[in-house]
Amino acid sequence: MEFRYLAGYFERLEATSKRLEMFDILAKLFREASHDEIAEIIYLSQGVLLPPFYGLEIGMSEKLLTRALSDAAGAPTKKVEELFRHTGDLGLAAGELIKGSGRLTVSAVYKELRDIAETSGVGSVEKKIGLLSSLLKGVSSPEAKYIARFVIGRLRLGIGDPTVLEALALSEGERSLRPELERAYNLCSDLGLIAKTLKSKGIEEIKGFKVHVGYPIRMALCERVPSSEDIIKKMGEAAIEAKYDGFRCQVHKDGDKIEIFSRNLERTTHMFPEIREAARKHFTAKEAIFEGEALAYNEATGELFPFQVTMQRKRKHGMEAATKEYPLKFFAFELLYADEEDYTEKPYIKRREKLVSLIEKNPVIEPAEMFVTDDPKRIYTYFEEAIERGLEGVIAKRLDSRYAAGARNFNWIKLKRSYKGELADTVDVSIVGYFRGKGARARFGLGALLGAVYDPKTDTFMTISKIGSGFTDAEFSKLREMLDEIALKHRHPRVDSVMEADTWVEPRYVVTVMADEITRSPSHTAGRDKDGTGYALRFPRAVGFIRPDKNPEDANTVKEIIGMFEAQKKVKAG
Ligand code: ATP
Repeated sequence: MEFRYLAGYFERLEATSKRLEMFDILAKLFREASHDEIAEIIYLSQGVLLPPFYGLEIGMSEKLLTRALSDAAGAPTKKVEELFRHTGDLGLAAGELIKGSGRLTVSAVYKELRDIAETSGVGSVEKKIGLLSSLLKGVSSPEAKYIARFVIGRLRLGIGDPTVLEALALSEGERSLRPELERAYNLCSDLGLIAKTLKSKGIEEIKGFKVHVGYPIRMALCERVPSSEDIIKKMGEAAIEAKYDGFRCQVHKDGDKIEIFSRNLERTTHMFPEIREAARKHFTAKEAIFEGEALAYNEATGELFPFQVTMQRKRKHGMEAATKEYPLKFFAFELLYADEEDYTEKPYIKRREKLVSLIEKNPVIEPAEMFVTDDPKRIYTYFEEAIERGLEGVIAKRLDSRYAAGARNFNWIKLKRSYKGELADTVDVSIVGYFRGKGARARFGLGALLGAVYDPKTDTFMTISKIGSGFTDAEFSKLREMLDEIALKHRHPRVDSVMEADTWVEPRYVVTVMADEITRSPSHTAGRDKDGTGYALRFPRAVGFIRPDKNPEDANTVKEIIGMFEAQKKVKAG
């Protein structure tokens, strides 16, 4: 396929705000793509070169793009800057400046962009500019527009992963294929690989899709209930594990090669050198995938530190100091693959047995605390004790359940501290915009955030709350800076809102919000019924800063909010 043809599709996608129309346009595009270019087309339309877990970034700023454009168009940088100021979009500026014939294929453009991304080391900035400028020289105006937006991360066609899965199923003329595609995607997190497999080998291959070491498995999550009695009612006899408040890691071991992925499937291997070492030496399978929670702890007292302390590892620099100051423990709680056996389909109790048998005694990795019981009192006593020790609560796991990749269901149930009459848990929202605010706050230019929850069915974000408290002054001004980097002229195509934010932003950041309760409200779109009444948070306040371990799609879902509202009604009645 020629790249200008793909650019034509991008124009059509950009022109619609209707989700169904978008699915149809994408389905048609996928149908026309050949099996050796479909992966590239999917990545490009999502604004990336590879799935995010590869961590490959193109590394171009507006400034570098401006120089490349000036070079390609033979125009002074001043002219490019002026066009940018005038249009507010370097993509439009590129479209005005570049007017080549455009005969490159999608694969050729993709390869050039990959080359730019992979250029590093001494003199790489000049090399990147040179490569981009020579790519731009040959392309037509609409192609230049999208290439320019792509390289600075501003493509924003609003194509989330569920949208791609839906369109892929439609492209085969069969919506009912979606669950199979989703299952395979949950096992490898690579939409390009799924699409390529589907196109070249057909749906049977997708049905038999297995986990691959090196490809992160989308993580299983918990449902919640208010009490230990409810756990036993739901599960009968269950495994009870401590809920550690640290950093979830999925460890992939391939001989001596170790990779570690975070909760939102980013490659975080560099953050945990001691887990890497321990997995290499003391995890006795040759090839394996296992999960656990990494926590900083005090060597002298054995006390576990809270999440915020563990998170200081996120800084790439000073890792050595962090390793010394806050040594880590890794509590392993799941085995997903070991020496050619896929454990995701095996019952919990088998996974656990094998997991324990693979860990040699060592100072870093140990199995998570666990016992099996059908006695709610015993769970409660353990829960209280866990809270006392600074843990977050407990997680109950159904003994005969498989590992539900990418799903939140009752195979795992969490129990956290809750207060009668108050909302039993915090809510994670994605920031979709902000308000300038009045009074003292106005000096930061940011007085409140507009928070939204996620609806995986439509792949959109629906607003639920204005959050104006819980941040310090310094955090407010930092937030303003971070949000202005991702500000938009209009509401993002994946955001559904009746409120008009002063500034709209791309859904990228998640914050955790505490509230007194969930109420019905016409001001928000989450869970809106036919009368236009949605759900809102009463007295919302942020806890902590941005959640670096969550993607916008990891915000709570509309369905969960409705579930929490129903649970709250029961508590009130009780
Ligand atoms: P939370 O804000 O409560 O962590 P979440 O959406 O990240 O919410 P949950 O589904 O509530 O995730 O809880 C699962 C998380 O709990 C896991 O992602 C993991 O990080 C953590 N965890 C701690 N101990 C365990 C354990 N023993 N088994 C599974 N997950 C555990």
